[in-house]
Amino acid sequence: MQFNHSDDAHRVDGAAVVHLVGAGPGDPELLTIKALRAIRQATVLLVDDLVGEGVLRYARRSARIIRVGKRGGCASTSQAFIERAMVAEALRGERVVRLKGGDPFVFGRGGEEAAHLRSHGVEVVVVDGITAGLAAARAIGVPCTHRDHAHGVLLITGHARNDEAESLHWPTVAALAAQGVTVIVYMGVATASVVEAGLLAGLPTSTPVAVVERATLPEQRHAVCRLDALAATVRRERTTSPAVIVVGDVVRAIEHLCSAAHRDVEATVLVAA
Ligand code: SAH
Repeated sequence: MQFNHSDDAHRVDGAAVVHLVGAGPGDPELLTIKALRAIRQATVLLVDDLVGEGVLRYARRSARIIRVGKRGGCASTSQAFIERAMVAEALRGERVVRLKGGDPFVFGRGGEEAAHLRSHGVEVVVVDGITAGLAAARAIGVPCTHRDHAHGVLLITGHARNDEAESLHWPTVAALAAQGVTVIVYMGVATASVVEAGLLAGLPTSTPVAVVERATLPEQRHAVCRLDALAATVRRERTTSPAVIVVGDVVRAIEHLCSAAHRDVEATVLVAA
C-alpha cells in the first residue's frame, strides 16, 4: 500500500489546514487508515459528542481535546464557537482535526464547516467515515440494497430545520420507498411519530422497520416492528439518540441471512500500533 502524503499533512503549500475527519459510527475499528493517521498527528482535536472514547484513544497523549458536542458535558457549544476555534487553532500552527461522527459530509454540518474554513483562508482536507445509517443497517444484518428487495437507498433527516419545517415532502419519500427504495432516517427518534405518519402516506402499514440505537458500539440494540407501530415502539423501548430508522422490505432480509454474515469479524490489525 502506498501513501502519497508529505510528512506534515497538516500544512498544504504552507497554508494552515484543518482535517475534517469522519470517526465512523462508533466502533474504532471502523476508522479509515487516513482518519487514524490524522488523529495520531493532531495536536488539537475538536470532537463531536457522537465520537466514541475508543476512537479518542488513538490521539496523542499530549493532544488537546476540545469537546464541542451539542449535548452532554458541553451543552451550549455553538456552531459559531466551533468554527472560530478551528480557524484560530489552525492559524496558530496547530495540527487541527475536527472529528465528526460517521462521515463528515453526511448531515452534521461538515459542508458548512468546510466552507467557513476556506472563507477564512484555511485549507480543508476531508477524510471519509462510514456513515451511521449504512453501518447500522449492516450491524443488524440488513443489506440495504439487496436486489430482491430494493433499488436504492435514501438517507434523510427526521429533524426539520426551524426555517423550513415543512422542507421534507413526505409523500415523495413514501412514494420512493413504495418503489423499493430503502429509507434510512437520521435524527428521527424524537420525531418518530412524524416519520411514521409521513411514510404511511404512501406505504403499507405492515412495512417492516428497524430502529437501531448506538450501532456498532457495545451498547448497540435494535427493535423491529411494522411501520404503523414505529412511534409506539420507540416509546416502549425508550429508544434514545443516536439511533437510525431503517424502512423497507430489506428489513425482512434479516432472518434470511446466514447467521455469521452480519457479525463483526475479529479485526485483522492493519495498522501498526
Ligand atoms: N455525520 C453522521 C451523522 C450526523 S447526524 C454520520 O454520517 O453518521 C446525527 C445522527 O446520526 C444521529 O441522530 C443518529 O440518527 C445518527 N447516528 C450517529 N451515530 C449513530 C450510531 N452509532 N447509531 C445509530 N445512529 C447513529
